[in-house]
Amino acid sequence: MMNVLVTGGAGYIGSHTVVELINAGYEPIVVDDLSNAKEDVIDRIEIITGKRPVFYKVDCKDKEAMRKVFSDNKIDSVIHFAAYKAVGESVRIPLEYYRNNIDSTLTLMEVMEEFGCKKFVFSSSATVYGPNNPYPYKEDMKAIESSSPYGWTKVMIERILTDYVTAHPDYCAILLRYFNPIGSHESGLLGDDPNGIPNNLMPYISRVAAGQLEKLTIYGDDYPTPDGTCQRDYLHVVDLAIGHLKALEYAENKEGVEAINLGTGNGVSVMELVHAFDKANDMELPYVIGPRRDGDLPAFWADAEKAKTLLGWEATHSVEDMCRSAWKFAKKASEK
Ligand code: UDP
Repeated sequence: MMNVLVTGGAGYIGSHTVVELINAGYEPIVVDDLSNAKEDVIDRIEIITGKRPVFYKVDCKDKEAMRKVFSDNKIDSVIHFAAYKAVGESVRIPLEYYRNNIDSTLTLMEVMEEFGCKKFVFSSSATVYGPNNPYPYKEDMKAIESSSPYGWTKVMIERILTDYVTAHPDYCAILLRYFNPIGSHESGLLGDDPNGIPNNLMPYISRVAAGQLEKLTIYGDDYPTPDGTCQRDYLHVVDLAIGHLKALEYAENKEGVEAINLGTGNGVSVMELVHAFDKANDMELPYVIGPRRDGDLPAFWADAEKAKTLLGWEATHSVEDMCRSAWKFAKKASEK
C-alpha cells in the first residue's frame, strides 16, 4: 500500500487526514516538530483507528533528519501541512514565518528530489486569492497576492511548486486551497486546540461555550452582507481530510500542477454560525458586537466545481454537524 509522508501530521488538519488515510488503507508516516501540537495526538489516532502511525519528531527544515525519514521508509507521496499558521502573529514576526514556512518546503522538496519522490499535495489557502478577486473564488483567477505574511508564504510556495513543475514536468503538485475548516472527528478525540487565546472563530466560540472565555466578540455587523456580519465558507475538517485522499488518488497517475479549492461553495455569516452553534448544542452563546477586525474581507466562498469534476470530492457535512463535533471536542478538552 502507498506510503504517504504527512508533515504536520499531529496538527489539526493533519491529524484528521492521518485518520482518514489509515481508514482507507494507506501507510501514513507522520513528521511533526510538535511546535503547535501534542504528541498524545498520535495515541489518539491509534485509539480511533486501531493502528499507530510511524511518527518522527522532526522539523522539516532539518535536512539530515528528513533524509533519514526518507531512507527509513519508501515514501511514495507527500502531504505537506507543516507550517506556522497564525495570521496576526505573522504580521508581528514575519521573518519567522518566511523562514519556517518557505525553508521547510524547500528542504522537503530537495529531499524528495534526492529520493525520487514526485507527488506533492500542498496545504494552501483561499487567502491566495487576495483582497481584489470577486467571489465565489475560482481556481483560474489570479492568485498572486495576500494580506499577511502568512498568506504570502502560501502564495510564494504555490509559485515555487509551479516553477518546479515547469522544470520537472513529470512531477505532480496539487495546491489545495482551503476555505474555513472547523469541527472535529466524531470521537471528540481530535480537534482544533490552539495555544493561548484563539484567533479563529470556532476555537473562540468553543472556549466561550466551555466558560473559559466570557463572551464572543463579533467583529463588525455593518458589512454589506445580508445580516451585516462577515460571510465565510466553513467546511467540516473531516470533509477536508477526505479531500486530501482524493487529491492523492488523482496525483497517482498525473503530472503537472493543479490548484483546487476545497470548500462547500456556500457562504455562512458569523451570526448564522453562532445561531447554528446554539441550536446544535442547545445553548445560548454570549456575544457582543465589536468593531471590524483589520484585514477582514466582508465575504468570500469557494466555487467548488473543480474539486467535484477533477477529484470527485464534495463536502457532505452540515454546519450543524460542524458545530456539534467542535463542541464535543472542546467540551472534552475543557474537562481535563
Ligand atoms: N470572527 C469574529 N470574532 C472572533 C474571531 C473571528 O467575529 O473572535 C470573525 C472574523 O471577523 C471572520 C470570521 O469570524 O469574519 C472568520 O474568522 P477566522 O479568523 O476564523 O478565519 P479567516 O476567515 O479570518 O481566516
